[in-house]
Amino acid sequence: MRDWQDLYQEVILEHNRNPQNFGVLSTPDRVARGYNANCGDDICLFLKLSGDDIEEIKFSGEGCAIARASASLLTLAVEKMSKSQAQQKAEEMLALLTGKKAESDSAPCLRSQLPLLGVRKFPMRIKCATLPWHALLEALAG
Ligand code: ZN
Repeated sequence: MRDWQDLYQEVILEHNRNPQNFGVLSTPDRVARGYNANCGDDICLFLKLSGDDIEEIKFSGEGCAIARASASLLTLAVEKMSKSQAQQKAEEMLALLTGKKAESDSAPCLRSQLPLLGVRKFPMRIKCATLPWHALLEALAG
């Protein structure tokens, strides 16, 4: 279990303790749920749109530290972005998390999400980190 410690970097712990944008939106334009049966993560994303932009985003639900931190980082990353920017960001994060893209190729704007990439060492946990990003793509698709 010692390797497990590597995964719990300070950023992940901090976001798990104090998740940003945690809660529900009363009148969301888009809702998407991500469920990971392996771990029990069950996260809902709520989006309020203003034209083509994400005006407000919140998440709720149950999840492990990685899933919660990933969702928390996601909301910070895409709030106020246009739908197409957010989609691009989600696709890039998923490519990084699943190892399809190298970290060195990542855009500087993804830097705040990079602590999540620690999960790549733990294949069983990658789904925990990708879950909110998949839910975001689903929400953006309508
Ligand atoms: Zn999990």
